[in-house]
Amino acid sequence: MSDSKLVIALTKGRILEEVLPLLESAGIIPAEDMNSSRKLIFDSNLEDVQLMVIRGSDVPTYVELGSADIGITGKDILMENGSEGYYEPLDLKLATCRLMTAAPINQVTTPKRLRVASKFVNIAKNYFSEQGRQVDIIKLNGALELAPIMGLADCIVDIVDTGKTLVANGLEPREHIADVSTRVIVNKASMKIKHDRVQSLLERLAEAVADKH
Ligand code: AMP
Repeated sequence: MSDSKLVIALTKGRILEEVLPLLESAGIIPAEDMNSSRKLIFDSNLEDVQLMVIRGSDVPTYVELGSADIGITGKDILMENGSEGYYEPLDLKLATCRLMTAAPINQVTTPKRLRVASKFVNIAKNYFSEQGRQVDIIKLNGALELAPIMGLADCIVDIVDTGKTLVANGLEPREHIADVSTRVIVNKASMKIKHDRVQSLLERLAEAVADKH
């Protein structure tokens, strides 16, 4: 971790598009267009702030290990990762969605031991074990909606926004597991060593969030 720079790890894709205007309201503008560039690390208008763009699931790792001071990613990823190694001081209230179970529309038979397909294996495991339900978890990396249709699983644990993806694949949302939105996480050492800069950025971001709501 560099002492001079404040490194912010951003999640590429949908979250990036929503986060960039908020960062701008908080006074941070990338030196070049992050959406069209293939670069992974960018300078900003502030000499001491750098922005990284990585997969959401890698954001907690960079922040926990201190290569980034601050990270911005979805609560789903933080829940899946476990939230021991960093602080989570701010909800940006962006990219809101829900973590839900989903199963084929109108399917009523529930086998004794559910087969649950998900890329969120820890979230699925925790959810069902808190309810004392025995399940077999099947790890998939994408296109979860296919699993019940192809007979691989009885249900899935997935992110639902409008629910259109589920319906298009003959599925319906069933149980609500958690509300998800974009969160700011901070490396524990950075919170101490770079306290003033981190705190001031958190305050500006909190103001930008409040202005939007
Ligand atoms: P929808 O059809 O609107 O329910 O969108 C569902 C799909 O969009 C899911 O399978 C997710 O992969 C993706 N999605 C929706 N919202 C988010 C979000 N906030 N963060 C990440 N992925 C999302």
